[in-house]
Amino acid sequence: MKSVLPAQGDVGRMAPLLVGLLTGLLVGIGGLGSVETPVARTARLQGAERPPEKLQRFEYAAEAMAEPLKIILYAPDEAAAERAAQAALDRIHQLNDILSDYDPESELRRLCDQAGTGEPVRVSEDLFRVLAAAQRWAEQTDGAFDMTVGPVVRLWRRARRTHQMPAPAAIEQARQLVGYQNVLLDPDRQTVLLKKAGMRLDPGGIGAGYAIDEALRVLHKHGLSRVLIDLGGDIRLGDPPPDQPGWRIGVPGLDPKAPPKEFLLLSRCAIGTSGDAWQFVELGGRRYSHIIDPKTGMPLTDRCSVTVVALDGLTADVLGTAVSVLGPEKGMKLVDQTPGAAAWMIRGVEDRLHSFASGRWKDLVRYKPPTAADAGPKRSGAKSGTQP
Ligand code: AMP
Ligand code: MG
Repeated sequence: MKSVLPAQGDVGRMAPLLVGLLTGLLVGIGGLGSVETPVARTARLQGAERPPEKLQRFEYAAEAMAEPLKIILYAPDEAAAERAAQAALDRIHQLNDILSDYDPESELRRLCDQAGTGEPVRVSEDLFRVLAAAQRWAEQTDGAFDMTVGPVVRLWRRARRTHQMPAPAAIEQARQLVGYQNVLLDPDRQTVLLKKAGMRLDPGGIGAGYAIDEALRVLHKHGLSRVLIDLGGDIRLGDPPPDQPGWRIGVPGLDPKAPPKEFLLLSRCAIGTSGDAWQFVELGGRRYSHIIDPKTGMPLTDRCSVTVVALDGLTADVLGTAVSVLGPEKGMKLVDQTPGAAAWMIRGVEDRLHSFASGRWKDLVRYKPPTAADAGPKRSGAKSGTQP
């Protein structure tokens, strides 16, 4: 990876903790083709205090935040792998209890219940961090990304279930409640004030991104750096697998069932895809996405898929949604202005496909696409998939 993935962010901050471990990560595992000469081995043994640990690959699957969760990690033994994976899963469950939109008892929902009372509500550090990041992105995108879009999202979710177009008056009423300017944060007191009664914050475009960043942090605390966390297609990557230049990530185009179009070798970053491949409703011959333009209260109607690589999961998650709303021109400009970020957008307008890439997209390192003889990259829906 060239300029896109400097060792910064979480990984950079973790670096001192990991030095001891990283010195011991030279031995590959079965099938990965690592051959160490005796001379190299002796030299390393003399330099190190203890023999390097042999790392094995472990893969875990679970469900979290109503999404399939996959964790791949390289650890010295099964007990260490399981402890770390379980701790990461526990952390994601904990964040779900805070951020869930579906659980009326979640901290986020309880906060929304206080909207319009005029009373600032003290919230947890996690919720405050997510809301502070969301507010920054709302300002930076001039409201294209806006968590207060909740009341409108609810209307369109109902439309997906009932296949009935929401009444224009209902859309207008919900839209009146949208506006990040009506969220007041007090960092000193860690409080939130939602100004209008009926306001509802939607975590759908940011929660998973934050959760994978936190899960990576937990794995690092357990001493594991060569890890991949895939939460429903929002993917967070640590250091590459032993003896590999990166994790292999296949990125599909507009059609989630077709083979990937891009084959990226990534590490120490995040990648995610926003698109309408699975979540949409067709009404009166028009296709309505689950992504809403907060200015109009209407879903996007062009077929669209945006894949974002960024230094952390929250940024990749938010940018995917924001770029979808902003469109190619403003969207790619935003990506170019975001340190370390790259994006690729495919848009289908009246049966024609248009592709747009940000400045750094071409600089990402690629791997040779697998042939029919190889195993195809696994993909989860329209999202990016992994073939580590
Ligand atoms: P993503 O799949 O990351 O693009 O997130 C889409 C989800 O974010 C939707 O299902 C909504 O829950 C929520 N959402 C939709 N439109 C917006 C928007 N303009 N700003 C913030 N969140 C949104
Ligand atoms: Mg997203």
